[in-house]
Amino acid sequence: MRPLSPAINALGLAALLALPTAHAEERVQVLASFSILADMVENVGGEHVEVTSLVGPDSDAHVYSPRPTDARALAEADLVVFNGLQFEGWMKRLVAASDYTGPLVVTTEGIEALDDTGHEDHGHGDHDEHDHGDQDPHAWQNLIAGKRYVANIRDGLIEADPENADAYTANAARYIDAIDAADDEVRALIDEIPATTSVITGHASFGHFAHAYGLRFMSLQGLSTDAEPSAADMAGLIEVIHEQDVRALFHENMTSPALLEQLAEETGLPIAGTLYADALASEGEASTWLGMMRHNAHTLHDALAEPGHDDHDHDHDHDHDHDHEDHGHDH
Ligand SMILES: [Zn+2]
Repeated sequence: MRPLSPAINALGLAALLALPTAHAEERVQVLASFSILADMVENVGGEHVEVTSLVGPDSDAHVYSPRPTDARALAEADLVVFNGLQFEGWMKRLVAASDYTGPLVVTTEGIEALDDTGHEDHGHGDHDEHDHGDQDPHAWQNLIAGKRYVANIRDGLIEADPENADAYTANAARYIDAIDAADDEVRALIDEIPATTSVITGHASFGHFAHAYGLRFMSLQGLSTDAEPSAADMAGLIEVIHEQDVRALFHENMTSPALLEQLAEETGLPIAGTLYADALASEGEASTWLGMMRHNAHTLHDALAEPGHDDHDHDHDHDHDHDHEDHGHDH
């Protein structure tokens, strides 16, 4: 009788063959394209997953260039999760160039498409047959659309690891409750901002946010950050700023503030804070998706909410904060 030795031999052999990152318990290796998706996967996968994000916090996934190590990480993954709608256009090429044959989760699958003007785009049936260059990929900016992301991630984890299906289902249900609570908070904060308020951000990342919660967002760059605005774009935006009720500029965490600072200088508008657009923060409140959504709502609220639009006592504010200067008025 030798009840122990075969097991010990097998483990010893496995240890010899394994790469330096051998994991004792077989956790599902999930590769996410960027930080926001990685956080969602961690919430749904819990203790059963080990998540790697190709594009880290405060980094811009639009213009990311995959490295050779990324192809290796992909080859070792059990599940690959990405946004789609051309957000990380390099991701499909990376998958195609690798030997990866496991399940792929495209988190935007099944969400309501918006075009680059923030309008619902009902024109398309089968998503894969169309060029998504003009569809807004930033659907995580709408918490309700984010619930579809979570359901897609849950289904992908169940496909990759059916043994833990119950855990993924329970985790996703709990997470969706938390998403609903965050959605209520964001909605309440944005409701206290006058509906006609316009703000400017670096690129057009907030179409889904505007569609869900209100406000008008304009931007220096389009749906991606890969093209610099021309001098004519800049002049056009400055003209729009003078015509409309634009109240503030907001920096985005994953892009350079240089152009926005230039716009602030030329228009006299303040840069009223940092919004987390396409990436989480590396630490603090905005280091999770729900935290980042709350942070953004509070930042917008603090800069733009007006006395009388909420229940708090702001009466003492009535004597200032009103912009009665006459520049810009017709004479
Ligand atoms: Zn973006």
